Amino acid sequence: MKFLKTILLILFTVLSLSLSAEKINVRIYADKQIKEASFVSSFGRYTIKLGEQEISIQKTDIVKIKAKSEKLELLINDSLIGNYKTINFLTQGLMNFFLLSPKENGVPERRYDDNLLVSNEKGHLKLINNIEIESYIAGVVQAETWGATKNVDFFKLQAICVRNYLFMNLNKHQKDGYHMCDGVHCQAYKGRCNQVEVIQGAHNSKGEVIVDSMGNLIETLFHANSGGQTVNSEDVWKNAFSHLTGKQDTFSVGMKAYEWEKYIRLRDWRNYFREKGVNIKDDSVKNELINFSQKEGRKKTMLGVPLVQIRKDFALRSTLFDIQLWGSEVKLSGKGYGHGVGMSQEGAINMCDQGYEYWQVLEFYYTGAKIKRIDEEKILN
Ligand SMILES: [Zn+2]
Repeated sequence: MKFLKTILLILFTVLSLSLSAEKINVRIYADKQIKEASFVSSFGRYTIKLGEQEISIQKTDIVKIKAKSEKLELLINDSLIGNYKTINFLTQGLMNFFLLSPKENGVPERRYDDNLLVSNEKGHLKLINNIEIESYIAGVVQAETWGATKNVDFFKLQAICVRNYLFMNLNKHQKDGYHMCDGVHCQAYKGRCNQVEVIQGAHNSKGEVIVDSMGNLIETLFHANSGGQTVNSEDVWKNAFSHLTGKQDTFSVGMKAYEWEKYIRLRDWRNYFREKGVNIKDDSVKNELINFSQKEGRKKTMLGVPLVQIRKDFALRSTLFDIQLWGSEVKLSGKGYGHGVGMSQEGAINMCDQGYEYWQVLEFYYTGAKIKRIDEEKILN
């Protein structure tokens, strides 16, 4: 019953919000070598297009595709239909999704919305999910969201960030014949979204992107929690952006990932800095090693070593920490989780829960940025 209710709610959302829908091509299982997969229609109606020929399939049909040297072998309920160059699973309705199960060990089966286009790439299956933009965005938001909330406004924010990335990188895989891959190379995408609030967030923000004062799409970086102070982009990477400047962020204070602690043996701590060329015999260095503090504000280095490097080497949650001597160890008392640049997800959840509008949250975390409406259809065609 719960499944049916969710389906109906999602269907209603999709029906009421997506009257015109543009589709993009996303390569799925991009980092896997798949030789055989089965397709089952989960919801809606599918037909298989084989060049000029068309076959309609029933919900109970199990369709198998195997990569055979140059071609693809098609079987329906284990009877051989034939060998083809491309096999496309197409649908017309407003809401359709299918289950795709690769045969390879350890490769998970997943559900996807809309169409599936299959071809043979050097003896393996090249699987392309031809999917409506907003459904793809919802899938990415669900795969990437950190922390739990049901606030639709927060998912709108996340959807806008995903859409920005998509439209800034539409040509990233042009030479490969699709728009995005499903790995972290582009944006992690693990199939269809099944959380109603996320789907609403994606559809309710259809066509909305975030731009700088010149009207250009911006890099919308985010992290889990800023620790109360966001970071300049140039302090983490080499480029400075006017919309990615560090600022006070009281909205992240006290949230779930606000604080952390880590203990490191004093000997290891000293050796680490010695190996970095620091003279640990020096009295002021000895003092800094056990009393380093960022209470007066975020710093970029400790004893000349970049904090981003220290964070990486000790697998710390963030670069915002103070140090105290704790017996034979040093205690790192840290704040925040992630690189700290751009939007703090927990801070954004807190702002949405406090009643701020989603555009106010974006304008807070991305200094000088504004929401702009784009015509997705025009850009894609
Ligand atoms: Zn990619």
